Amino acid sequence: MIALRFRPLGIAGALLLALACTALAKSRVPKPTAPKSAAAPAVKPAPTPSADWQVVKIGQRDYLSADDIGKFYGLLGNLDSTGKTIVLNNGRNQLQLTLDSREAIVNGVRNWLCFPVIEKDGKLLVSRIDLAKTIEPQLRPQMIQHKGAVQTIVLDPGHGGFDKGARSSFGSENEYALDVARQLRPLLQAKGFRVIMTRENDVFIPLEIRARIANATRDSIFVSIHFNATDTNREATGFEIFSLTPRGAPSTADDALALSFVNMQAGSPVDAQSFELSTAVYHSMLGHIPEFDRGIKRARFAVLRHTQIPAILVEGGFLTETGDSKRIADPAWRKKLAESICAGIENYRNLAEKKQRPLLVAEYRAQSAGEITVLDLAQPPSRLEPTPSAALAPVSNPNREP
Ligand SMILES: [Zn+2]
Repeated sequence: MIALRFRPLGIAGALLLALACTALAKSRVPKPTAPKSAAAPAVKPAPTPSADWQVVKIGQRDYLSADDIGKFYGLLGNLDSTGKTIVLNNGRNQLQLTLDSREAIVNGVRNWLCFPVIEKDGKLLVSRIDLAKTIEPQLRPQMIQHKGAVQTIVLDPGHGGFDKGARSSFGSENEYALDVARQLRPLLQAKGFRVIMTRENDVFIPLEIRARIANATRDSIFVSIHFNATDTNREATGFEIFSLTPRGAPSTADDALALSFVNMQAGSPVDAQSFELSTAVYHSMLGHIPEFDRGIKRARFAVLRHTQIPAILVEGGFLTETGDSKRIADPAWRKKLAESICAGIENYRNLAEKKQRPLLVAEYRAQSAGEITVLDLAQPPSRLEPTPSAALAPVSNPNREP
């Protein structure tokens, strides 16, 4: 499997580099390039600004140019015809950034930056916190420091008892979340994990207790399972996933006005691990199930705030949307969701314990189509939304508990 996976990537990477170089020669924006080698960027210290990085200070915030990011990671870049979106890639990693937007595509899935991309002197700039907290862990996941093994999975089915959570005409979130966790447990056990559930039945467990259960475990991760709802947009649909908002940054659901407010609530001591767990599971979910990609997000939900181990919160679709609610009501579909979460967790363990990079959405899809995986990240990723689409807007999770 590994040989199959990496060999074509190497060939593809070389091909893509050749193609990209040709394209670059014709391009009117050759600036952010000049990678020294095709595939994996050389191992360098973490991208805190050094002599190689030109830090641009705007207000209280440090920014780095897309040019510098391209150079550091060995990515070839090109502005699109609107001059607002840049796609950087090297066949192994891909990063799409858009001026005045917090939305970015990283390796084929939607990400929400802490701060919008801005422009100065003709250069697109990304905040330093986004480079460190969002981009770096995804472009070089092997650089994340992991302490110990990943042995225990704390599964947290959301809600329970009198707290039914979201509801559809078919059922409620407390039941669905519990069922997914019950289906997920034996799958994880079969992979050699120990599994602890914060609730085994339809009972109410306070959020702080759930976090306390998680914090009492060692060599463990925390996975909270929820389904979504919104009362403002019946068409909102799709998956999203959360880890704790970094210190000094706004959550994804904070509006533009709040961006000027610097929230100094503590972040997670294991932010990179939580974020990487988030991406590993999310790529697997979207790679196995063709749901709408709402993105990898940040929030200060209580279970994320109070857990001290790598922690994520999965939103497995909308109970307020007709298509999603029908799928979620199907036990076979929930089994598939459980399987996809299991595969993501296993990929995360392989990263933590063997430095093996987690599969990306395109690789899962190729795998399930029975193809030999050849990543084609030279193709533009799924288009960013120029205006909020019905499915995407409004951002569904206000800062209340999910
Ligand atoms: Zn919920």
